[in-house]
Amino acid sequence: MTHSSDTKGYEVGYDDAGKVQIIEGEAREDVTEALDAGVQATALEGGCTASAGTMETAARAAGKSDILDQYAKDYPKGPHDQPQSMCPAFGSLRVGLRMKRVATILSGSACCVYGLTFVSHFYGARRSVGYVPFDSESLVTGKLFEDIRESVHDMADPDRYDAIVVTNLCVPTASGVPLRLLPREINGVRIVGIDVPGFGIPTHAEAKDVLAGAMLKYAREEVKAGPVARPVGGKHDRPTVALLGEMFPADPMMIGAMLAPMGLAAGPVVPTREWRELYAALDCGVAAAIHPFYTAAVREFQAAGRKIVGSAPVGHDGTAAWLAAIGDAYNVNPDMIAAAQNAFLPAIKGALAGSQINGTVTLSGYEGSELLVARLLIDSGADVPYVGTACPRTEWSRPDAEWLEAKGVKIVYRASLEDDLAAVDAIKPDLAIGTTPVVQHAKERGIPSLYFTNLISARPLMGPAGAGSLAQVVNAAIAGKEKMDTMRAFFEGVGHGDTAGVWEGSPNLRPDFRAAHQKKLDKMARAAKAQEMI
Ligand code: SF4
Repeated sequence: MTHSSDTKGYEVGYDDAGKVQIIEGEAREDVTEALDAGVQATALEGGCTASAGTMETAARAAGKSDILDQYAKDYPKGPHDQPQSMCPAFGSLRVGLRMKRVATILSGSACCVYGLTFVSHFYGARRSVGYVPFDSESLVTGKLFEDIRESVHDMADPDRYDAIVVTNLCVPTASGVPLRLLPREINGVRIVGIDVPGFGIPTHAEAKDVLAGAMLKYAREEVKAGPVARPVGGKHDRPTVALLGEMFPADPMMIGAMLAPMGLAAGPVVPTREWRELYAALDCGVAAAIHPFYTAAVREFQAAGRKIVGSAPVGHDGTAAWLAAIGDAYNVNPDMIAAAQNAFLPAIKGALAGSQINGTVTLSGYEGSELLVARLLIDSGADVPYVGTACPRTEWSRPDAEWLEAKGVKIVYRASLEDDLAAVDAIKPDLAIGTTPVVQHAKERGIPSLYFTNLISARPLMGPAGAGSLAQVVNAAIAGKEKMDTMRAFFEGVGHGDTAGVWEGSPNLRPDFRAAHQKKLDKMARAAKAQEMI
């Protein structure tokens, strides 16, 4: 116990900890001067934890208005702001990591980079993700940009890489880190800088388009500037149709077989697996927007003078219409279009007849292929009253939307989790296909359910191969209803949500904590709203 004349009262000490010297930092004037208040707040507040409005305002103040306006045009939001989705940057990260001889560097908060790296390795990236760390000082003084430039120079080894992709995550985007000032190319290694902020790109699907579009733009400028390298697989002897959207590996082969009677061939799939495929993709006459959300990539194809055809060869009517649309776009003789249709439509009809689905299915997802899968389910005999997609309505899914709406399907674009759950509760389907929380919600109610991404997206969908592919998994799931009921009965009474489990006494509910937290959330929401109005 100590008592000195200049302290008021007594200070109780149990060890020497009270005597340690504390170094107090002084604000550095040069840094403080450089700090813009908005940028500083953004740097300190972080990404997901700051409101999207705050981040966007900071990004605009930091000179990123052009890019945010372009994103708003390419990836329109609404009916509500943003579907619940994983960090959008995962989409572009995955596209880069899947490409041969392409290195990836992330610039963002360590927690974001940790999460993104974790998920990419969870999905088998087998590739290192580069990271340029920062703190609030290096962010606001511009040192982060210098660090990024240095790391790009260090990595630019033409023996190892064709390109290096540098991605600004939320905080560096909001702070205006100017990736456009990076050298365009170092020792022949292309440098592609993109901003992929969660407050500008609604879904990870659309983030794939950001990188695919940026690479196509780069490749198109290279083509304009002079001869480029031939694709490793050589050049096709027939005119090609480039395919936009990641799909099951057998699907492009199936599409190629269906195009052959029209004298056409399937071109590369965009996002591509290597740089040279970008040239081959741009060399097509027609690009097929199989996934309808590739707005930036479509812009590049159009700038190269290519025609775009929406929808995809799924099911009977879908394949017939798609082959006709591709044939028309290529001015193929109608007899040859009919030959392609006659060669495949009977096989599709046969496959559909042999694999019927009997039941009501609700469908929701964020892959962008939801409308195509719904078509296939309906062609297989299923009743599909509701389709929710996290992607926006675009011109390229219009034929599918019209076909589905004519069958009485309700389509919700930019569907929120609440939309999807409400559909499951109202319809009580025989099967709910959806995202993880939708599947969990359905299972709790004893409704059989399937994950869209793992179990539906990972199947062939196109032509005769796709026609019968869903029935097996869907019928097996629907037949599991009894199992779900048994399981539900078994777990009956074990509680729900945060009170789930076997308790010795009653769970300690703290409605007061909940109310206080809700108040905090409401206050944040009000502040964000007020910010929007400014
Ligand atoms: S980069 Fe992704 S995880 Fe990080 S703040 Fe932005 S949206 Fe959230």
